[in-house]
Amino acid sequence: MEIKLMRNILGANDEIAAQNRKIFAERGVIVMNLMGSPGSGKTTLLEKTLTRLADKIKIAVIEGDLFTAKDAERIEQAGVDVIQINTAGGCHLDASMIQKACVSLNLDAIDLLIVENVGNLVCPAEFDIGENFKAVVLSITEGDDKPLKYPLIFKESEVTLLNKIDLLPFTNFNLQSAREDLTTIHPTIKIFETSCTKDTGLDDWEAWLLGKVAR
Ligand code: MG
Ligand code: ZN
Repeated sequence: MEIKLMRNILGANDEIAAQNRKIFAERGVIVMNLMGSPGSGKTTLLEKTLTRLADKIKIAVIEGDLFTAKDAERIEQAGVDVIQINTAGGCHLDASMIQKACVSLNLDAIDLLIVENVGNLVCPAEFDIGENFKAVVLSITEGDDKPLKYPLIFKESEVTLLNKIDLLPFTNFNLQSAREDLTTIHPTIKIFETSCTKDTGLDDWEAWLLGKVAR
């Protein structure tokens, strides 16, 4: 019963996601679904990314948040168009939320749309929003066991950012085993080691992201 209900919800979501994907393709917008735990550093990474790319490509952001507009206010400072979605306790964004938010965006004027999903390693991975690719931020302080504990999000994501890499010496995070687990779950996954406080790995991340938009 419960399984059937979940299947119906995901089926309906997939239909709207397909509509979104078609619209994004027609308008020439590349969409990144940015996921990760609360506190993994998604918004700070986003701020750094926007600062670097703002004069190179046109970017807009959709911010998913449970209740507040705190992240959207931060992103607005970077001078890009930002749409806030409050899920009122909902733990993920779905395709219809994105469809509604896009009504307020001039998609023709955008090269890259970044969607910061609700902080959560579980169901954001289950809900297609019509993105071109998913990215997951895993911070060093969360522990190296997370890929094996939450495999779906790493399987679904084209890229993982091992963030707060500057904190590595202060934790027991095993970088080698985390990389091995990621590659076991998803053999073609792209991995970046980043720090937004030390500006580590951001040149490579920027170049990769620009490559996705140019394609
Ligand atoms: Mg955030
Ligand atoms: Zn959820």
